[in-house]
This record gives sequence, C-alpha cells and structure tokens, in this order.
Amino acid sequence: MNFNPFFQDSKTSARSGFLKTAHGRVQTPFFMPVETKAAAKFVSQEELDKMGVECFISNALLLHFKPGLEIVKKAGGLHKFLNWEKSIFTDSGGFQVIDEHFLLRINDAGAEFRDPFSGKRECITPEKAIAIQNSLGADVIMCLDDQPHFGRSKDSIAQAVKRTLLWAEKCKKAHSNKRQQLFGICQGGLHSDLRKKSIEGLLKIDFDGIAIGGFGIGEENAQMMKVVEKCVSLIPEEKPVYLMGIGSPKELVEGISAGVDVFDSCFPTRVGRHGMVFTRKGALRLEKAQFAKDFKQLDADCDCFVCRNYSRAYIHHLFKLKEPSGMRYLSHHNLHFLQRLVQEARQNIKENSFLKFRNQFLKNYSKKLL
Ligand SMILES: [Zn+2]
Repeated sequence: MNFNPFFQDSKTSARSGFLKTAHGRVQTPFFMPVETKAAAKFVSQEELDKMGVECFISNALLLHFKPGLEIVKKAGGLHKFLNWEKSIFTDSGGFQVIDEHFLLRINDAGAEFRDPFSGKRECITPEKAIAIQNSLGADVIMCLDDQPHFGRSKDSIAQAVKRTLLWAEKCKKAHSNKRQQLFGICQGGLHSDLRKKSIEGLLKIDFDGIAIGGFGIGEENAQMMKVVEKCVSLIPEEKPVYLMGIGSPKELVEGISAGVDVFDSCFPTRVGRHGMVFTRKGALRLEKAQFAKDFKQLDADCDCFVCRNYSRAYIHHLFKLKEPSGMRYLSHHNLHFLQRLVQEARQNIKENSFLKFRNQFLKNYSKKLL
C-alpha cells in the first residue's frame, strides 16, 4: 500500500503517516513548494532539501512547452534534469485552463492552449496530458481537469464536473507508467452535491489519490473549508487527499485539521516576492515604514538562515531599493516557515495533541496584515 496514515488525531480529522513513491517516503501531511517552470523562484533545490522538503510540484504543460520532453528525456528524466532525488508531483495543465494567456478553447475533446514561448496552438487531450507526464517521470501525476472560473453559475460548474469525469476516465485508460501514481481531481466549486457527484465518479474509476481542485481562486475561506470537510468525509481513508493550490499558514492548519494530507501553492513565494512575511503572529508587510528601524528577526520562532542573519530593517531596506536578494530572503523564509508548521502539525498528530496546537496557532495568528 502506497499510503499509510497510521496516526489519527482523536479530536479532529487530522492524520499523519507517509506516502510511498518511487523516490522514497514522503511524511504526511506535507506542503509542496511549486516549481512551475522547474524552479522555485529564488530558492534552490539544495535549500528546499535542507529545510526538510520531501516533495515539490512542477507543471507538466509548461515543461512540455519548454524545454520540451526530448531535453528532459535526454537529461535522464525530470529528477535528473533538475537535480532532485526525492519525490515530485506534476500537474497536468488543468490550472492553465483558467489562464487566459494560455487557454484558447475548451471542449470535451480537450483544451487548446497557446504555447507561451512559440505562440503555436496545441490541443492537449486527456491522453496527451498523461503521455506528457508519463514521459517526464514525476512520482505522482494528475488527470487533466476542467477548472471553472470563480463565480461561474452552478450549471457551468456542473458541466465542468461532467467533463472532468469524462477526462478522468480517459486519463486512467491512457496511464502507462506504473512507477507513477495517478490522482483524480474533484471539481464542483462550493456546491456540496456537485463535489459528491465528482468524488463518487472518481472513486468508481479508482485512482491512487483524490485531489480537491478548483479552490484558491477567490472563494471565502470558511465556505471552502466546509466543502473540504464534506469532500474528505466521502473519500475512503486509504486514499490520500490533496487540496490543490492552498498554502497560507492558516489554511494549512485548518486543512490538516479537516484531514487533508497534501497541499501545494505558489502563495508563500509569490507574496514573499512582494514583501509579505509569515510569522506566528500573522503575516506582515515588510515595506511599511514601521519596519525601517525594526532590528528584530522576521519571526521570533524561526530558525531559517534569513532569520538567523538578517533583521527586518535590513530586508525592508532591500525592498525599498528593489534589491532582488530581498525577494530571495522572503521566499526562503516563507517556505521554511510552512515546512516547520507542517512538521509541528505532524508531531502534534503523533502525540494526539493536534487540537490544542491548532487552536493555539489560530489564536495567535492575526487575521489582519501586520
Ligand atoms: Zn525565517
């Protein structure tokens, strides 16, 4: 069995164990940094390794466009190409369905994208999305899904659920690299009945794990968490649950509490590049004038190299002058912060004290930007 959540918190749905892949065991729950174009912006693979990251996610569609499958194959596969010996997920390109720079057209046959580098049109069918990911060689790959934009009508979301299930069946049939696990993606927006239909359809096809897609695009946090809880309750416990695109500190802790095992998001590095810092008291905007003379470390409890060496005032100065090292330091700190947070969550699940940990964290974590 690839997934074994052997610790179950008795007061919440939080659980901890491991996901076994062709490149080792990943302790769950875990958060994956995003390497859309085969790099976590400003943070090296060596840094990710040192902060305890055991898995990240890259984007198969973008790698297919550039550098192309041939080059990755010649390098000896994705792990060798980007020098990472631990586990990797790839996303199929489903998320680009909501990106107007990429998507030209979508119908039941597939999604037509514009290659952002060459400008050429290319139709990605479910079969092609799988062939691309089979060739890249990530440990866990995702079905192609139809992700509706936020705020779409229920009919439109129902249509996306139907198409995502149709594509999921085709993806399962096309999947040929047995060293890779294939996860199905559930859609349905904030509609519990559509989520239920989507999950039941995926369970019939039988995937190695179930991803909850379509969130992180503008919905209200409390509403999303209610739907996530409902989804988790419908998924058998032997299947890992992956909440896609979610990665703020608060949402991670709440998601773990709801029973989610896997997360990914470009949020920590994207906001880091814009001067936002995660701390145990909440997120702060380092560009504010009040930090110009603040010689404390970014977060009092953090032991990352940035916090050990530099003050808020120094990094504030770097941001004021638009020095790229400021963006690098905050990207590193934010990723390190989330790794420590999930490590602590795992430890508390093992000791059956997760509820206390969660409540304490949420009590200390300000909802407002500091
Ligand atoms: Zn730090």
